[in-house]
Amino acid sequence: MKQASNQVITGNILIVDDTPANLRLLSAMLRHEGHEVRMAITGTAALRTIQVELPDLILLDINMPQINGYEICEQLKANEQTCEIPVIFLSAFDGVIDKVKAFQAGGADYVSKPFQVEEVLIRVRHQLELQHMKRNLQAAEARALQALDREKELSRLKSEFISILSHDFRTPLTHIRGFADLLRYTNDQDQNLSAVTQDRYFNKIDAAIEHLLNLLDKILFVSNHDPDAIFCQPVPTDLKLFCQNLIETLQPSLTHHTIRLICQSEAPESVVDPVLLQQILTNLLSNAVKYSPTTREIDLVLDWQEDWIQFQVHDRGIGIPASNLPHVFDMFYRCHNVGDIQGRGLGLAAAKKCVEIHQGEIFVDSEPGSGTTFTVRLPQSLPAAASQPPVD
Ligand code: ADP
Repeated sequence: MKQASNQVITGNILIVDDTPANLRLLSAMLRHEGHEVRMAITGTAALRTIQVELPDLILLDINMPQINGYEICEQLKANEQTCEIPVIFLSAFDGVIDKVKAFQAGGADYVSKPFQVEEVLIRVRHQLELQHMKRNLQAAEARALQALDREKELSRLKSEFISILSHDFRTPLTHIRGFADLLRYTNDQDQNLSAVTQDRYFNKIDAAIEHLLNLLDKILFVSNHDPDAIFCQPVPTDLKLFCQNLIETLQPSLTHHTIRLICQSEAPESVVDPVLLQQILTNLLSNAVKYSPTTREIDLVLDWQEDWIQFQVHDRGIGIPASNLPHVFDMFYRCHNVGDIQGRGLGLAAAKKCVEIHQGEIFVDSEPGSGTTFTVRLPQSLPAAASQPPVD
């Protein structure tokens, strides 16, 4: 359906009538008004052409052989694809009974034959306008529902955010208070703590503070509130060596898993930010380890083309349910199959942010029970503008 600048609404109209002269007359006057017109001379032909392309409106003769107008209309109204199409009946019968029957069959309007051209045009225009308004209303309703869903999701994330934060901050803070109390108490009581024990308590306090600072850094980074975090400093980097070094750093802390680097030949020198790249790959590799409790091998596959480089982290772990896939990069999102595996739902959001800062893309492919592959594609060399530090 179209609305021209002069506000006239035109549509795709199907005329169904077994009298060729009527078809000719009606189609000529509707085309003259700017409508697209299709014609059918029997009910069966009408139903066939409706399946091929849904019309915006149907002008339907009642008295036809084989299948009459009422039956066609009833069939259309019973089908959810066609039930919204307005039907205007055309009939030589003009009794009250016929009109009632037409409306009962689901008709939107009724024109008596022989028809007046003006009357048909006005009734057609009226139905198209109604239909147009209805579609606008439905679209507005869908937009409102979408906004409501987004609002609900935001509010859910906010409460989740607050409860996660309070839990994550409370635990180390409780440790700090506990060890500070212990130190103070033994001091008040003139009990001598050995230097080793004192050291242990101070180390615990330091570790809790370190944990809080790390958490805060991650949250600020992901929420983009820390402008320094988006500073990208690309430097020429030997990617194969970079990946080998990264695996060497991670491997000693892994008891069961082996990370293999798969790289066909010498990688070309690329201009990337090693800090961002390390953040991306560390997050992906540590997830691969964490979510593959029963399998050993994890592959880091390095590949490149003329102007981009690609990293794939492939595991054979628990996988990600298809319905969860669209949300994995959302802050605080955790998939439904994580079970007892600990996590905060921040790692992938952070990885995605780093990829975006690096003008790249990240995507995921997963088969529950078989494994997951995260793919990161970055430009081979960042354009000069991206490497400028922000101006104060
Ligand atoms: P988390 O700290 O929970 O691991 P992430 O942001 O790193 O947070 O990941 C978000 C969620 O995506 C995880 O909770 C997990 O459900 C899912 N996920 C991430 N990586 C994998 C993977 N390699 N295999 C299966 N699920 C994964």
